[in-house]
Amino acid sequence: GIMSGEKKIILVTGGSGLVGKAIQKVVNQESNKQEEWIFLSSKDGDLSKFDETIRLFKKYSPTHVIHLAAMVGGLFHNMDHNLDFFRLNMLINDNVLRASFDSGVVKVVSCLSTCIFPDKTEYPIDETMVHNGPPHSSNFGYSYAKRMLDVLNRGYHEQHKCKYTSVIPCNVFGPYDNFDLHDSHVIPGLIRKLHDVIKNGGNKFTVMGSGKPLRQFIYSLDLAKLIIFVLREYHDVEPIILSVDEKDEISIADSARAIAKAFDFDGEILFDTSKADGQFKKTASNAKLRMLLPDFQFTLFEVAIKDTVEWFKSNQDVARL
Ligand code: NDP
Repeated sequence: GIMSGEKKIILVTGGSGLVGKAIQKVVNQESNKQEEWIFLSSKDGDLSKFDETIRLFKKYSPTHVIHLAAMVGGLFHNMDHNLDFFRLNMLINDNVLRASFDSGVVKVVSCLSTCIFPDKTEYPIDETMVHNGPPHSSNFGYSYAKRMLDVLNRGYHEQHKCKYTSVIPCNVFGPYDNFDLHDSHVIPGLIRKLHDVIKNGGNKFTVMGSGKPLRQFIYSLDLAKLIIFVLREYHDVEPIILSVDEKDEISIADSARAIAKAFDFDGEILFDTSKADGQFKKTASNAKLRMLLPDFQFTLFEVAIKDTVEWFKSNQDVARL
């Protein structure tokens, strides 16, 4: 392990994605001389291959790892690709933790998600419930692969005393999200859709599903600050939920209205109930986080949506479409 006062080298896998870019922005605003940050994309190496993974760990000799890299997608992409989500994420996760162990990394923070919890459960969901029952069938591949990260963390701790832990974010959105119409999450998908409606002179904004499901959404820059806090200050192996408060859960319909407002769109919002809704809700408790950070201020949803829409409108050249 490293001694206190020594420089930390922090390797971020998936550093070019939605969450990675947000961490990079927060870190750049801080300028902490004791930390050197390295942000990886898939172009630096394919983490589903162990030889490429260990090559990157030898090249950068990280002391700490934030492991974000994953095959990620929304409801509809998951429903059609459960096998791919399971296999690719299992490979990436095993390779990253194995390379971390082989190269003496002191701490790893990996990423689960609130959508991997049991489908039939009590609410609110908390960190003790990860393995309590089968996940929703729509995304079983992604969910089981994510749950195995917690199994790996426990195993590395029991057998080798490693401090590998995980965070469980709720739905994330923000700049650098995936705005593709086919494999995106709900917020970027709706932003893209309304953007196209307006561009084509339309006045009907159609949301897939009933609009009734409830979700907790976290702005990527808020999540970035919380993940950095976990890296520096949270010392358990057990996961920690990083979510907005339970009272801030909102319906898909209300999210669509906030997006419409951010675009100054005054046309009609329609709900296509022939399309799947996914889980009705997955309310998570952030009590553990609130015990550690009682005063953390989350960005107001409307403000974060407005910022994201503005970013999308003025970054058509770099946005993932
Ligand atoms: P993105 O899809 O925005 O980014 C994924 C990142 O993983 C990219 O940097 C991508 O590289 C990299 N990557 C994918 N496959 C490979 C591979 N085979 N080898 C190396 N790198 C790879 O994801 P997010 O930022 O949204 O998600 C980050 C983490 O947070 C993930 O673990 C996800 O499961 C989790 N999470 C996300 C939520 C959300 O709502 N978005 C909710 C809860 C958890 P490249 O850019 O080169 O393709």
